[in-house]
Amino acid sequence: MNHLSLPFDLKKIEMIGQQYPTPFYLYDEQGIINCVADLKRAFSWNRGFREYFAVKATPNPAILKLLFALGCGVDCASEAELMLCNRLGIIQEDVIFTSNDTPAEEYQLARQLGAIINLDAAEHVDYLLDCVGVPETICLRYNPGKDVVTPNVIMGDMKSAKFGMTKAQVFSSVKKLAARGTKRFGIHAMLASNTLEASYFPMLARELFSLVLELRDTLGVTVSFVDLAGGIGIPYRPEETAVDILEIGDAVRRIYEELLTPQGIELSIYTELGRFLTGPYGYLVTTVLHLKETYKRFLGVDASACDLLRPAMYGAYQYITVLGKEQQAPAGKYDVTGSLCENNDKFAVDRLLPRVQVGDILVMHDVGAYGHTMGFNCSGKLRPKELMLRSDGSVELIRRSQTIKDLFATFDIYPEFRT
Ligand SMILES: *Cc1c(COP(=O)(O)O)cnc(C)c1O
Repeated sequence: MNHLSLPFDLKKIEMIGQQYPTPFYLYDEQGIINCVADLKRAFSWNRGFREYFAVKATPNPAILKLLFALGCGVDCASEAELMLCNRLGIIQEDVIFTSNDTPAEEYQLARQLGAIINLDAAEHVDYLLDCVGVPETICLRYNPGKDVVTPNVIMGDMKSAKFGMTKAQVFSSVKKLAARGTKRFGIHAMLASNTLEASYFPMLARELFSLVLELRDTLGVTVSFVDLAGGIGIPYRPEETAVDILEIGDAVRRIYEELLTPQGIELSIYTELGRFLTGPYGYLVTTVLHLKETYKRFLGVDASACDLLRPAMYGAYQYITVLGKEQQAPAGKYDVTGSLCENNDKFAVDRLLPRVQVGDILVMHDVGAYGHTMGFNCSGKLRPKELMLRSDGSVELIRRSQTIKDLFATFDIYPEFRT
């Protein structure tokens, strides 16, 4: 399937719309299933391979349950994400906890749930030992201070990045923890976000495998797993193409066989992909409310930046299909806007689209990651519902829309709001 084609058509959306009015998110279960299968195939050469889905990308119970059933663990970044996974019965070593600037309570909860803690800072070693004692297994987040791919707006350059520790700090942390009794070590690094450069994982693997060798040779510590984390991108623009994950897995295998196998080292590869697994399989469906022409042509929809922040936040490009008009030639340029009193509340600027009419349904592609979750409530806009298009064609509500009652819930300190 071409990344611009859709797993549904206008008729299907009109049918869904009778029960669930727009705007809504719609996820394509089969797309996610296929993507996980490809990822597992790509790394099937590594016996301990596991994907720990980055919960922050799409923190919805149905998505997490689906991925867990497909064999994935989870990577949590916060207390709420730990609690969410705990509710779903995803605990112990099915969870990696990767946080930064972490409050003590979050380490305590992670420890209590038995999650693998991924330590962001050497300065946190003593803090962690103080608040939770000696962990049996620990992962350390490394920041080599150099870029292996072109930095972009999401991650920036690694010397400025707030994540991870220097090589010297990894060594001193491993030394200290090993002396205190930690048995199992992992090394983690995330040096890119949304990169389509196929060389990223192989280059990162080379970096981390070399570090594993150095750790063994200087400290006598054998690393049990290497966590390549996330960062693999998806094609948002029509002219971009998806990475070939099989090719990437194979390139990582060659580096493993070059650096580790001759040394008799066998370790597990972990990934924490978020965007790659769900991004292309989520859609924001919205209806055209108004057309407006001043010095430009505007097309106002019933969604806003509150539903999807990426375009307003980083000028992100989201491909837009006018449903039922896929085959029509572009009729002109539109700014596709929401209703916030913010001029950056635009899903697209000067976008070539077929002739659009009030009532047309627009689909924003590739919002299955960092879509719903980055929403907010400016001007009291209510967060939209999420739906799952199951493999059998049925549609399931997987999160209801916010209500005004939800929005006013924190006003229950006032008698007027306590009803
Ligand atoms: C955000 C994040 C991920 C997932 O990143 P993607 O770009 O969505 O693949 C993985 N690991 C950590 C630690 C993260 O913060």
